[in-house]
Amino acid sequence: MLIIFGIMTFLATTLNYENRFTKDPTSKMNAKTDLFVLLQKLIYVFFFNFFKGPQYALFKSIILVVFSCLTFVSYIRNRPYYSQTTQTIVELFAGVFAWTNLVLLFTQVISGAQFTGSLEILFLGIPIVCCLIYTKQENRLKLLMTSESQIETGDECQKKNFYYIYIIETKEVTRQSAIILKGYINHHTEVCPFDTCPIKAYKKMMLREKLTAESERKKKA
Ligand SMILES: [Zn+2]
Repeated sequence: MLIIFGIMTFLATTLNYENRFTKDPTSKMNAKTDLFVLLQKLIYVFFFNFFKGPQYALFKSIILVVFSCLTFVSYIRNRPYYSQTTQTIVELFAGVFAWTNLVLLFTQVISGAQFTGSLEILFLGIPIVCCLIYTKQENRLKLLMTSESQIETGDECQKKNFYYIYIIETKEVTRQSAIILKGYINHHTEVCPFDTCPIKAYKKMMLREKLTAESERKKKA
């Protein structure tokens, strides 16, 4: 029964997801992480069904820690969602879940000792985990600044392009995106070897517009 259910849901997840770049906040680039999450849930069901009894508590805790941490890492490395907001929310949930499991394991390990601060550790850790996830943006920035010839995998190139699209889309609303985009254009015009590069052309156009606007202002004055 478990196997049939597993196969059916595997097929549903791999075949049935919105993989185009649309405004749908749940659209994804790939279902790698989904598959992993599904596998992990089946493993949980298996272990929690067949290993009942208090003597297995520590063992189950370890399973939970290992798989929740792997899921968290998988969400960060694959970045399956196009939408930045959805991606951050999912990372937050996965991160808090992994942290909770870690604290649970810690409590299991020291259950013999007289220690009652686990709940405090859990609630102290959650905001720290959230802050860490929310502020880790710089590796994408680094990716944006590496040139195409230095990027090794197609996945990375895709990530770079989606980040580029993201900053272009949000440049009107987010100040940081506007700054990053401006920096990227300047950086690119310096390193790009092609004279006919569209980004260079765009920068020249902007410069010309600025100059004409200034000269017109001078004429009026
Ligand atoms: Zn170029």
